[in-house]
Amino acid sequence: MSTDREPQLLATVRTDLYIAGEWRGAGSGATFGVEDPATERVLAQVADATPEDGAAALDAAQRAQEAWGRTPPRERGELLRLAYQRTMERADDFALLMSLEMGKPLAEALGEVRYAAEFLRWFSEEAVRIDGRYVSAPDGRSRLLVHHRPVGPCLFVTPWNFPLAMVTRKVAPAIAAGCTMVIKPPALTPLSTLFFAQLLEECGLPAGVLNVVPTSRAGSVVGPLVADPRLRKLSFTGSTEVGRRLLRDAADQVLRTSMELGGNAPLLVFEDADLDVAVEGALAAKLRNMGQACTAANRLLVQSTVAEEFADRLARRMAALRTGRGTESGVDIGPLIDEPSRKKVQELVDDAVERGARVLTGGSPQDGAGHFYPPTVLVDVPADARILAEEIFGPVAPIVTFADEAEGVALANATEYGLAAYAFTRDGARQLRLAETVDAGMLGINLGVISNAAAPFGGIKQSGLGREGGAEGIHEYLDVRYVGIADPFSA
Ligand code: NAP
Ligand code: MG
Repeated sequence: MSTDREPQLLATVRTDLYIAGEWRGAGSGATFGVEDPATERVLAQVADATPEDGAAALDAAQRAQEAWGRTPPRERGELLRLAYQRTMERADDFALLMSLEMGKPLAEALGEVRYAAEFLRWFSEEAVRIDGRYVSAPDGRSRLLVHHRPVGPCLFVTPWNFPLAMVTRKVAPAIAAGCTMVIKPPALTPLSTLFFAQLLEECGLPAGVLNVVPTSRAGSVVGPLVADPRLRKLSFTGSTEVGRRLLRDAADQVLRTSMELGGNAPLLVFEDADLDVAVEGALAAKLRNMGQACTAANRLLVQSTVAEEFADRLARRMAALRTGRGTESGVDIGPLIDEPSRKKVQELVDDAVERGARVLTGGSPQDGAGHFYPPTVLVDVPADARILAEEIFGPVAPIVTFADEAEGVALANATEYGLAAYAFTRDGARQLRLAETVDAGMLGINLGVISNAAAPFGGIKQSGLGREGGAEGIHEYLDVRYVGIADPFSA
C-alpha cells in the first residue's frame, strides 16, 4: 500500500453536511475530528450538524418525497444498479477509507465493500418486484385490492463497526421502495457515509432524496427528528441500550421502527463436528472485524469430549495471527475502535480470570499507539463471568463446555439476546433440530459468516425488530394499503 494514496484519497472526500443536494458547513460553523484508531492521528475535520441542520435535512427529504415516490420503479432500480457498479469500481478507495477511519484490515474492508455493494445490486432487482393482490372476498360480495406505498421520509442512525454496509443495507431498500431519507452517521466513522453520498449524487440521485448530517451530539440531532410528525420511519443499528431509548421516543408518534441491536451469539461445537471446519468457522465468527460485530461469536460452547482439542487448536491459530495497522499488508487483526472499548474488553477478561478462567493465549494489551488488543482464548470460564452475559466486542474467545445437545442448547439460549448463532455438527437430523430449538434470528450451520444480502438479517428477543436484506427487507420501507371494492357484477 503506497502511503501517498491516503492523503490523495482523503482530499477527495467531502466533509460537509449534504442537504437538499448541496454540500455545506454546519449552521454553527463547528467541525469535529475523525481519528485513525491505529495511529490516533486526526484524518479529517467533519461539519458538526446542529438540531437546525437536522431539521433542514428533514425539510429536504419531505419536499422530495412525493415526486420520488412516483418515479418508475425501473428508474430507481437502474440507479441502484449503477451505484452497485460504481461502488465496485471504487472498491479499493472505499476499502482504504474504511480501514483508515475504522481500523479493519484492508482485505476485510474489501470484503465489506463487496457485501455493502450487494445490497445495492439485490435491491436494484427488488425495486421492480413490489407486488400486491386482487382477490374476491370469501362471500363473493366485494373485491379486495392490497397494494404497497412508500412509507415516507426515513431517519437512519448507523454504527461505526461496518461504516459502509450498515448504510447501504438501509439506503438501498429505501431507494427501491421510493422513500427519501436523512442519515445520521456515527461520529467515529462518518467519512464512508459521506463518500457514498458523493457516489449516489454522481449516479444522479435527485436532490433531497438522501441527506447526511454527521454530528458529535447524536441525541440533540436525532431527538427532535424522532419527535417530528413529518418523519415516518426510524431505522437504527447500534447498541440495545440506545435502541431501547429510541424506541421509547418513537412511541410518542407511533413511528415505524426497524431495530438492529446487540447480540451475544453462541457458537456450538458438537463432538461429531469436523474440527478443522469448526476451528476455521470459530476464527471467522470470532475475529471478523476484530470481534466488533453484532454477529460475533460471544460464547464458544463445546461438547466436553472435544473441548480440549478444540481449545488448543483455536489458541494455536489465534496466537499466530498478525496484529497491526489495517492498511499494512499481511495484517490479520487491526486495532479496536477506541480506548474505552479496549478497557471494556480488558475488564471482561480480568473478571473472568479472577473467577477462575485460564488464559491459553493473549489476555493483556500491547503498549504503544493504537487501541490494539491481542487475540485471546479463555478456558474454564465459570457461568457467572460477565464475559458470558455481555457483548465483548473484541477478539476474545471464552470457551464453555457442555455434556449433551439439550445442555448445549439451553446454554445457547440463556441470554436476552437472539441475533446470530452458529453450530458445527455433521449430524443432519441434529442440524434440523437446532434450526428449531436455537432461539436466534439467524443460525449458521458449519458456517462462520452468515451475512448475505439475499437473506433476512435480524434478531429476535432484545436483538431487535424487523429484517434487513432478502425479500423481507423492502417491506420495512412499504406501508400496506387495502382497498375494498363493491362486487362489479352487482354495481
Ligand atoms: P451505539 O452507541 O448504540 O451507536 C449507534 C448509533 O447511535 C451511532 O450513530 C450513535 O451516534 C447513535 N447514538 C448514540 N447515542 C444516541 C442517542 N442518545 N440518540 C440517538 N442516537 C444515538 O452503538 P455503537 O457503539 O456505534 O455500535 C456498537 C453496537 O451496535 C453493538 O451493540 C452492536 O452489536 C450493534 N450492532 C448491531 C448490528 C445489527 O445489525 N444488529 C450491526 C452492527 C452493530 P455516535 O456515533 O455519535 O455515538
Ligand atoms: Mg457508542
